[in-house]
Amino acid sequence: MNVVKFGGSSISNSKNIKRVLDLIKRIDEKTIIVVSAIGKTTDLITKAGILASKKDSKYKEVFKKIKSTHFNIIRKLSDINFQVKILTTVQKLFIELENILDGLYNVGEFNKSINDKISSYGEILSSRIIFRIAINQNININYLNSKEIIQVEKSSFDKLIVDYRSTKKKWNHYKDKNTFFRLIMPGFIASDKKNKITTLGRGGSDFTASILAKITNSNKIILWTDVSGLYSANPKIVKQAIPINHLSYEEAMELSHFGAKVIYPPTIQPAMDKKIPIFIKNTFDVRHKGTRIGLNDSVSKSIVKGISHIENISILNVEGSGMIGEPGYIKRVYEVLYHNHVSIVLATQASSEHSICIGIKMDDSLKAKKLIEIEFKNEIKNNIIKKINIDDNQCVITLVGDKMKKHQGISGKMFSALGSNNINVKAISQGSSERNITAVIEKKDVKKAINTLHERFFERNIKEVNLFIIGVGNVGSSLINQIK
Ligand code: ADP
Ligand code: ASP
Ligand code: MG
Repeated sequence: MNVVKFGGSSISNSKNIKRVLDLIKRIDEKTIIVVSAIGKTTDLITKAGILASKKDSKYKEVFKKIKSTHFNIIRKLSDINFQVKILTTVQKLFIELENILDGLYNVGEFNKSINDKISSYGEILSSRIIFRIAINQNININYLNSKEIIQVEKSSFDKLIVDYRSTKKKWNHYKDKNTFFRLIMPGFIASDKKNKITTLGRGGSDFTASILAKITNSNKIILWTDVSGLYSANPKIVKQAIPINHLSYEEAMELSHFGAKVIYPPTIQPAMDKKIPIFIKNTFDVRHKGTRIGLNDSVSKSIVKGISHIENISILNVEGSGMIGEPGYIKRVYEVLYHNHVSIVLATQASSEHSICIGIKMDDSLKAKKLIEIEFKNEIKNNIIKKINIDDNQCVITLVGDKMKKHQGISGKMFSALGSNNINVKAISQGSSERNITAVIEKKDVKKAINTLHERFFERNIKEVNLFIIGVGNVGSSLINQIK
C-alpha cells in the first residue's frame, strides 16, 4: 500500500484537478489519496470567520468567493446530469458553513476551536468533490472521512499528540469491513477524544498522509506539490535554488522546522518511525524525480544540503552582570515562557550567564517581554538584571547538513560570506548534533543573505554580480551588447 497527498495548489482549479485525476487514474497499487483544501480555501475560510466575528459583513463576499470556486470546478468537471448529485452534497455543506459564519457575526466570537471547526470544511469539500468527480469518470475509488480514523489529543500545553493506538484500531475496524483499491480521504482534519472535529495545524495534510502511512505500514508516501522537491533554498527567493535528490529524515526535519514550507515538520516522525520513504514531487512536472527523504545515505557528497529561514522573529535579550555565575536564570526564563505557551525558536547563552538571548515569534514578543519583566521584577529593581531588550523584525537563517559535523570551517565560511556582504549577524546558534548552524539577522537583509549563502555553498561556478552602467554612450552600449 502507498499513500499519496495532493496539496492545495495542485488542486486549485479545474485544470489542475484534471491533471490530478489523471494521476489518480494511473495509480496501479492499492493507495490512500489524501487531499488538501482547494487552493487558498483554508486562508479564506479563516478570513471569513474573523471578519464575521468582528461584525464586518464583508465575510459574505469572502464566503461567496469560496462557494463560486467550488461550484465552478464541479460545473467544469462533471456531466450535467451528474452535477445535481454532487451539488446536493456540496450545497448542504455550504449551508452548514454559512450558518456557522452567520452565528459568528451575531455573537461576535472567534477562537481556535471555532477556527478548527470552520476550516475543516475546506478539506471536507475538496475530498467530497474530487471523489464524486472521480466516480463520474468511472474511476474505481472509495471515500473515508479522516475524522472517523485519526484521533488526537491535546496536551496541557496545546501540543497535538496523535493517539496511534485508537487511530490504528479504528483503521483496522474499517479495513476489516471494507475493500478498496483507491481510497480518498481529507487531509488536515482529525477528531479529539470527545469526537469533536479538530485540525492538525496549518500544512497538516502532509501530516495526515504520514500518520496514515504509519498505521497502514505503507511502502512509500508521495507528497505532490507545486515544486519539484525540497530545494536547496526557497525557490521563490533564490532563483538558482535546485531540488535536493536525497535527504535524511533528520535533515528534512531541520530544514522544515526552520522554514522550508514544502513539508510540514511533524510529517517526518511517523515516516521515520517505520522507515517509510517520503517523496516530494511536482504535479506540474510529473517526470521530475523530485526529492527522496529516507534513511541517511552514503552516496550524497554534499556537506551543506540546504538553507532555510524563518521570518518575523523577535530577539529577546536578558542581560546583567548580576547573573554571572548564578545558576537558575535560564531555567526561569524557559519556564515562564513555557508555562505561558511562548515557544522558543532559538536560544544562545554564554557560559558566564551574563546574557541570555532568545528567538521567539514576533507575535509573542510583547507578551514574552512582560512575562520576563514580571518574573525578574526584583532582579530588575536591584539592578542585577538590566531592562529586557526586544528586537523585532529579525529573521533566523539556517544551514543544514548531516555531514557538517565532520567538516571544519563551515561556520567560518558562513559568517565570512555574510560579513563580506555587510550583513550584520545578531546571534548565532549551533546544536550539539551539529546538523545545523543558525544565525539571526535583520529581516531586511534576508533575501541578500540567503542568496549570498546559496552562492557560497551551492554555486561553485556561478558568481552573480550586479552591474551598473552610468552614462551609456558608445563604449557603454558596446559593453552592453558584448554582455548580451
Ligand atoms: P502544498 O499546497 O502542496 O502543501 P505548500 O505551499 O505548503 O504546498 O509548499 C510548497 C511551497 O513551499 C513552494 O511553492 C515554495 O514556495 C515553498 N518553499 C519554501 N521553502 C522551500 C524549499 N526549500 N523547497 C521547496 N519549496 C519551498
Ligand atoms: N488546508 C490546510 C492548510 O492550508 C492543510 C494543508 O493544506 O496541508 O494549511
Ligand atoms: Mg503544504
